[in-house]
Amino acid sequence: MNSLDHVSRTAHWKPTIVAERALIVAHTAVNGEYRHLIVECGDEAASALPGQFFQLLCPQPAGEQSFLRRPMSVYGVDPARRRVEFLYKVAGVGTRGLDTLKVGDTLDLMGPLGVGFTLDPGLRNIAVVGRGAGLATLAPLAGACRARGIGVTAILSARRPDLLMSIELFESHGAEVITVTDSEQTSGPANVERILRHLISQDRCDAFFTCGSSRLLRVQQRLAHEFGLSGEIAMEQQMACGIGLCHCCVRDFNVKGEIVSKRVCWDGPVFDMMQALP
Ligand SMILES: Cc1cc2nc3c(=O)[nH]c(=O)nc-3n(C[C@H](O)[C@H](O)[C@H](O)COP(=O)(O)OP(=O)(O)OC[C@H]3O[C@@H](n4cnc5c(N)ncnc54)[C@H](O)[C@@H]3O)c2cc1C
Repeated sequence: MNSLDHVSRTAHWKPTIVAERALIVAHTAVNGEYRHLIVECGDEAASALPGQFFQLLCPQPAGEQSFLRRPMSVYGVDPARRRVEFLYKVAGVGTRGLDTLKVGDTLDLMGPLGVGFTLDPGLRNIAVVGRGAGLATLAPLAGACRARGIGVTAILSARRPDLLMSIELFESHGAEVITVTDSEQTSGPANVERILRHLISQDRCDAFFTCGSSRLLRVQQRLAHEFGLSGEIAMEQQMACGIGLCHCCVRDFNVKGEIVSKRVCWDGPVFDMMQALP
């Protein structure tokens, strides 16, 4: 761990990681692929920060076994009501099991885990660029930015318009939302670059916050380099333990020209965008 990681970790790290059975208080379909899950839990879990995640012990769907917990970002927290929200895609056996949960059931969760996003005091305006499940990870930034008076432009990308999510959530926190999709042929790197260059030219982008697309990461890295901007990325990597022990989620990063291996679950999942190797 280098000294910068240490500063970042001590700034964000919650010494209390809990494993508990949380009560399902709402569970709804957002569209054909994604579900919105709200649980009631203890104070520690409900103090999770944007960018942190939980390891969920998903129920086993009939005839299948998922073995390990599944990582899921915090989509929202309400410390006063002790609630945590998740927005997840039904992707495989674990999330199929999650999809079977009903209001009144319980879910075994462990967290909050990992290092979340950093909003430096000097930031005035940020660009949030997310695709797919990355939108779930980035969404809580909107509220955090509003609380700090930071302007947000959110570029939300999806395969089709019906799969776009969190538009109202971003807008309710005062963010400007720009949607791009594959089916409308607006989600390609060239168009997103054009949008970002426009924001930069209007002094509306001091930093990038991104998740969910390697192609869009490369665009942002190039622009950050060209204009001297900063950025953070939340990385999604298959993981097992979620607490830094098994080293299953190690990825390489470029730290000042040197290739350094880091655990996504423990050193991240949020990293300096310029260190990420797409
Ligand atoms: C820190 C972190 C936060 C995440 N937050 C969210 C979130 O908020 N919402 C959400 O929908 N998803 C999120 N994911 C992805 C989520 O963990 C996976 O979709 C889930 O584990 C799939 O489990 P499964 O058993 O349903 O599918 P599996 O049968 O395990 O896999 C189904 C498909 O999902 C892919 N997959 C499996 N694990 C991951 C993973 N960790 N990252 C990316 N793709 C994966 C597999 O390659 C496969 O194509 C997050 C992942 C990480 C690491």
